[in-house]
Amino acid sequence: MGKSIVQSINHLNYLDNEGRVYCRAHNELKTLGTMDCFNCPLFRGSLQGAGVECTYLDRVTDDIDMLALTVPDPAAQLTWITKLIDKGLIPADQLSREGNL
Ligand code: SF4
Repeated sequence: MGKSIVQSINHLNYLDNEGRVYCRAHNELKTLGTMDCFNCPLFRGSLQGAGVECTYLDRVTDDIDMLALTVPDPAAQLTWITKLIDKGLIPADQLSREGNL
């Protein structure tokens, strides 16, 4: 297992059983369809009704060989990303790096 690094990576954000995804732009759980994903700088694609693909900074291991990380649990991702923000490892406002919604 390699060491942890912070890098920009595509995330496959799947819906939870309440129809919410983890939204990095708002750092909240959001119901798909309530955000303007197509105009979001983090948007990378749809998951054909199952969620949304968004690229943002995350903490991964440097031996990662995946093109995308799967996010099956939006609430767990919210907790994880909030922890990285609180530790100062990633910016609170990812969009300040990418432009505005
Ligand atoms: S594309 Fe942007 S607005 Fe839509 S879920 Fe991803 S981060 Fe949120």
